Amino acid sequence: MTKTTHDMLRSLPKIEEILRSTRVESLLERLPRPLVADLVRDTVERTRAEILAGTRGECDSETIIDDVIAHALALEHPSLRRVINASGVIVHTNLGRSVLADAAVEAVTSVARGYSTLEYNPAALARGSRHDHCEKLICALTGAEAAIAVNNNAAAVMMVLTEFAAGGEAIVSRGELVEIGGSFRVPDIMRLSNADMVEVGTTNKTHIPDYEHALTDHTAMLLKVHPSNYRMIGFTESVGLHDLHTLANRENARREQAWEHGVTDSRDTESINRDVLVYEDQGSGAFVRLACFGSYAEPTVAESLDQGADLVSFSGDKLLGGPQAGIIVGSKHLIDRLKKNPLARVLRLDKMTLAALEATLRLYLDEQCALSEIPTLRMLSEPAEAVWKRAETLMAALEQSLPPRCATVSVIPEIARAGGGALPMCDIDTYAVQVTFLRGNALDCERYLVAGRPIPIICRLKKETLLCDARTLVDPYEITEITAAFTEYFTRMDDQTTREDHIGK
Ligand SMILES: *Cc1c(COP(=O)(O)O)cnc(C)c1O
Repeated sequence: MTKTTHDMLRSLPKIEEILRSTRVESLLERLPRPLVADLVRDTVERTRAEILAGTRGECDSETIIDDVIAHALALEHPSLRRVINASGVIVHTNLGRSVLADAAVEAVTSVARGYSTLEYNPAALARGSRHDHCEKLICALTGAEAAIAVNNNAAAVMMVLTEFAAGGEAIVSRGELVEIGGSFRVPDIMRLSNADMVEVGTTNKTHIPDYEHALTDHTAMLLKVHPSNYRMIGFTESVGLHDLHTLANRENARREQAWEHGVTDSRDTESINRDVLVYEDQGSGAFVRLACFGSYAEPTVAESLDQGADLVSFSGDKLLGGPQAGIIVGSKHLIDRLKKNPLARVLRLDKMTLAALEATLRLYLDEQCALSEIPTLRMLSEPAEAVWKRAETLMAALEQSLPPRCATVSVIPEIARAGGGALPMCDIDTYAVQVTFLRGNALDCERYLVAGRPIPIICRLKKETLLCDARTLVDPYEITEITAAFTEYFTRMDDQTTREDHIGK
């Protein structure tokens, strides 16, 4: 007779009973009691929910205690830790986006280990501003008059809209109202910053008259949003920054004249007092045009400014290859207003990020140096032959180390991706080591590589095989680690089969 759900729920052990068990009591020597009690309660409740959902059968106290202990042990190990990215996605948001350059890591360590000049100006023997560390470098590299860096690009967009478009209207093309991974949606940020969004054009085509007709005395901004990892191909058209700049100039001249002549149909004179700004949310934010991507290369920040954007914002950890940050560049009088906005305080960067950002920016002073020292740029631009060599090294290591007749390994040409919403149309030639399973299987092995290793290894699953892309490996040590992990996977399986054989006899 099978037990009913009701019976199974009733036979679940009591929380007090589990807390009194010797195995759980021994946990109390290492962890505070309220924490252990929470773990027990969570585990029992989770089990109850699983029984109700029909995903779990009867469960005795020993099984629940095993669960509690596994969760308790997990607390003693770092949750945020190193992984090996063998996925071939270079700027992988789930895996921490950009890997920092050595110089950036050293800068972080140095300011973290001791006190720093975060808000101190040693030349003047006086208080300084944290905004000063990166501003000159950003300006030198983009040709901007002024710059400010905040927590991330979403924060930068929020700050620009709040300062310059709150209470007014921001015009944006329907073709640019995209959602960017991790729930960043322009309409939501717009609402949050109290700006009225005016959508113009259609999904595939927007023309300059669409913007023109939408202009009112309340227009505060023409907003251009980089479509990130989304591209329309075929019958499409969008308006460039240069044309938006011309339109904004014309409107600003008209307002000036209307103001001088006292003819304004606006109810409040406040909105007519402000200029229409052209702002681009550039997303990925490139400083150098990567020649290897030809016409697909993302436009640089300097190009956007040249074409007439008053303000441009972008991420620090996408194509730039630095730490998480949002950088805003543009005219000095605009950036000065942002620096005074209370949000600049709310969204400010900490010393470690500033140190990493400053060090990364300094590498850009010599473009060749940036290309070779900044891991994101290096991985994007590394010739396929160099990647092939690394793949061959990994293959040779696997061939040497794997137990016999468990898998075949080969190096195959593959396609890597830039990620981070950049260069979505670019197929980046790469090489991967393909593991084809003679014993075990790809899914099972993938689970072991990710969940069963102190340093998870993220590969790609392809038709019952596992691919390790050599383009995104950042350290020779990772080849050793991948080899050890695959070897261990098969060896464990051997041990298990041997055990089972013995039991069978
Ligand atoms: C990535 C991206 C953002 C968000 O930037 P974060 O640095 O992740 O906050 C905003 N806009 C565009 C166009 C993007 O590509």
